[in-house]
Amino acid sequence: MSYIPFARKYRPKTFSELIGQEIPATILKNAFLYDKIHHAYIFAGHKGTGKTTTARIFSKVINCLNPKDGEPCNECQNCKAIDSGSFIDIVEMDAASNRGIDEIRNIKDGASYMPMQGKKKIYIIDEAHMLTKEAFNALLKTIEEPPPSLMFILCTTEFDKIIPTIQSRCQKIVFSKASKQNIKKYLSYIATKEYITIDEESLELLAELSDDSMRDGASLLDQANTYANGNVSIDILKDMFGPVDRESIRTFLRLLIEAKTKDAISIVQKINEKGYNLRLFWENIYKELKNILRAFAVEEPTDEFYKSMISKPLETFLYLEDVISQGFSAMYQKDAFLALEISILKASLIKDFVSISEVLNKGFSVKKPETPPAEEPKPKTASKEYPEEVENVLEVFKPAKIVNYEEK
Ligand SMILES: [Zn+2]
Repeated sequence: MSYIPFARKYRPKTFSELIGQEIPATILKNAFLYDKIHHAYIFAGHKGTGKTTTARIFSKVINCLNPKDGEPCNECQNCKAIDSGSFIDIVEMDAASNRGIDEIRNIKDGASYMPMQGKKKIYIIDEAHMLTKEAFNALLKTIEEPPPSLMFILCTTEFDKIIPTIQSRCQKIVFSKASKQNIKKYLSYIATKEYITIDEESLELLAELSDDSMRDGASLLDQANTYANGNVSIDILKDMFGPVDRESIRTFLRLLIEAKTKDAISIVQKINEKGYNLRLFWENIYKELKNILRAFAVEEPTDEFYKSMISKPLETFLYLEDVISQGFSAMYQKDAFLALEISILKASLIKDFVSISEVLNKGFSVKKPETPPAEEPKPKTASKEYPEEVENVLEVFKPAKIVNYEEK
């Protein structure tokens, strides 16, 4: 049997298996139980949060021969056919590659036939925001008044790109981003099932690298497991993704705060040379910096690292936040390594920072230079009333000198 990637193998098959999407699951389950199924839905939310998976579960319970408590049985011929993708009445379409009017015409033609195997004919349109305006308009009439045996589920990561006339004809279901905690839970479940040894810190890091997506998390674990052959550790992950673990990130942040520019640049240089993802590294730096900023708002953070950080002036971190976020946009415009090098140089100005409270407590004391710089002797002039530039201009308009004849 060919290898099934984790993201597919451990895809939820019932509403209760969906982690972190209790609200969409309850809405859809109740819609089925109390016969309040809408004719068109938009499932909106971040990538990898289970929109298409939920669309399949919903399609399954609607067409299941023995549904139980609002869940599909996963045993009947319809459930099995839907799981294997061979159920004729459920049509999945990827709008990213089929975005034109012809594809929508095919849907309209197909929609005029009654379901052949199941109770409802369901069209699941993935990445629906990619449809052209013409395609949306062609779909409008069918979505507005479909026959009772027809249903649409539009899945999208960009709800705002769906034209308002379609939006208003569909029921919107929002899928929240996968929390780090839930991704960890999911990965830990897969690890147990697959007999993978993985420690808490590595799970934490994988969840961190998952970009708020369950699917990305499962793919990363899959990749790490293939590399580590069943024993995933922090060292393995560092080998694969570079110094993106918490300790390495904190070490780098300390270098920035202490203005140890040379050491910081050398780390980025190594990441670049080894071909690791510089952006990923910078993202993790930014995330941890945001955690430090949050720690300022918390009474007494329990983490020792944050405790030591908040003893420094807040201005330091606000400045650093600005420099690091500018680094992101610069990475797109120029060579990524160069952009980060410049950001590190900018960050080195931190050493000249004095906190506002320090200034208020001690007052300004401007240190005088040991030997004052030699100044050009200036001609004696009366104290100036205006700034120099203005004085220069006024000079032109001064009345001619009155000669005192008695002096002669
Ligand atoms: Zn069934």
